Amino acid sequence: MKTIDTRELAAWLDTTLQASRFKDYCPNGLQVEGKPRVGHIITGVTASEALLRIAIERGADAVLVHHGWFWKNEDPRVRGPRRTRLALTLAHDLNLFAYHLPLDAHPEWGNNAQLARVLGLTPERDADGVPLTCGSGDLIWLGNAPALATLGDLATRVHERLGRQPLVIGDADRPLHRIAWCTGGAQGMLADAIDAGADAYITGEASEPTFHLARETGTGFIGAGHHATERYGAQALGEAVAKQFGIQVEFVDIDNPV
Ligand SMILES: [Zn+2]
Repeated sequence: MKTIDTRELAAWLDTTLQASRFKDYCPNGLQVEGKPRVGHIITGVTASEALLRIAIERGADAVLVHHGWFWKNEDPRVRGPRRTRLALTLAHDLNLFAYHLPLDAHPEWGNNAQLARVLGLTPERDADGVPLTCGSGDLIWLGNAPALATLGDLATRVHERLGRQPLVIGDADRPLHRIAWCTGGAQGMLADAIDAGADAYITGEASEPTFHLARETGTGFIGAGHHATERYGAQALGEAVAKQFGIQVEFVDIDNPV
């Protein structure tokens, strides 16, 4: 089996995803160091106990996820589920790689780029082909979908492609010109999408104020699921790693209704 030096893989991922460019809520990169060489990676959305157990069962050397550990403002004590996850990882010499905002933003393999591909949205780009973005950290993407005339059409498309019924706020007949999207828990950036002239905003989750802001501005809002909208970045990144280094990479989807 082909393997690669763990540090070399970490350096390639950090550079490719421009990890140092982001102010994030967690450390990005190699969060837990395991075996010195990697030949088999399990990718997933979240480094949960269930994902770790599958990686161990399948004899993987590393786990590569969007949601890793060590979040800001989290209780740092090693107790309960936190202890279980860490103990499993260390006992099996697993490497844990995690990329949060850098994996949302990557122009090709990122969650936003991949969600656009899955939903059939066309990102707006500048003259150099760079996707047009807005909002805090430039995390919101802007684009359109000429085949989808209304908010109702967009909601149907989301339901079909993501395989789950989204939360939809707004008039189903509202015409769509500009669509904005940001995967995950980005409901707090709805106002930025409105400022950018979006007719509809897609993200993963919603909060109580989301409803009123959408209603009072007439903007369409689609809450399509945090997990459901972030399922595609880790997968695409994993495929890129497999292609680059010729090692084995498997994506494991552990469904999450949130
Ligand atoms: Zn997320």
